[in-house]
Amino acid sequence: MTLSPSSNHPDLLDRIQTFDAETQRGLTAFTRELFAQEDEVLAHVRRRTRELGMPEIQIRPEEGKILYFLARMIGARHILEVGTLAGYSTIWLARALPDDGSVVTLEVEPAHARVAREHFALAGLNGRVEIVEGSAHETLPVLARREPFDMMFIDADKAGYPAYLAWALENLPNGALIVAHNAFRGGDLISNTPDEAVLATRELLNAMARDERLLSTIIPVGDGFAVGMIQRGVGTP
Ligand code: SAH
Ligand code: MG
Repeated sequence: MTLSPSSNHPDLLDRIQTFDAETQRGLTAFTRELFAQEDEVLAHVRRRTRELGMPEIQIRPEEGKILYFLARMIGARHILEVGTLAGYSTIWLARALPDDGSVVTLEVEPAHARVAREHFALAGLNGRVEIVEGSAHETLPVLARREPFDMMFIDADKAGYPAYLAWALENLPNGALIVAHNAFRGGDLISNTPDEAVLATRELLNAMARDERLLSTIIPVGDGFAVGMIQRGVGTP
């Protein structure tokens, strides 16, 4: 696989927009301040995640706002999330839904699910969010029989990403949006010494780029969202 997407157009490489690290930080802080301020609930969830010694790998506010934006843009009603942690991203997603909407979120760690449940109550979202405990690899097949999800947010074990995509392509309706977090793997995506997580992420991205049922790209906010919209039959005779 080629790691240099512009390799067939070397002259385009100097048309890549870059900023030095300090400028990048400032631009992100500006965006966050203006468009992605946390309310008390989200700030509490993030603080509590730290206090409890849980991994602080939840999405960042500007990433949360993008999820919220995407959900609103497609008029999402039923969202499926893989990887709850303390429920930070779930809250961003659930808030984008109409009153009769719902989020089903999958979590393998009972301790994480317990904390997340408290946070959903605090956020007043208990009726709109359901946590399904267990490994997504076991719970997804059961969820296939539920009402169709129009958005799926994948943010769990990276090795599982290709399987989660395959499930989505089997079970989500046309027009549904698949969003996978950490497309850039903190920059390691293009490492010369890829670990298992990087290899699985590359497999996911390759599949998303090539699958004719998907319209895909990467939204380069934060650690990158791989996004794919299911477009079965579009462009085929
Ligand atoms: N989406 C969250 C962060 C999720 S962190 C946020 O942004 O707020 C990843 C979570 O996925 C962890 O809580 C981890 O326990 C969970 N996880 C890992 N493997 C999983 C699996 N196979 N099935 C379900 N959850 C899994
Ligand atoms: Mg993530």
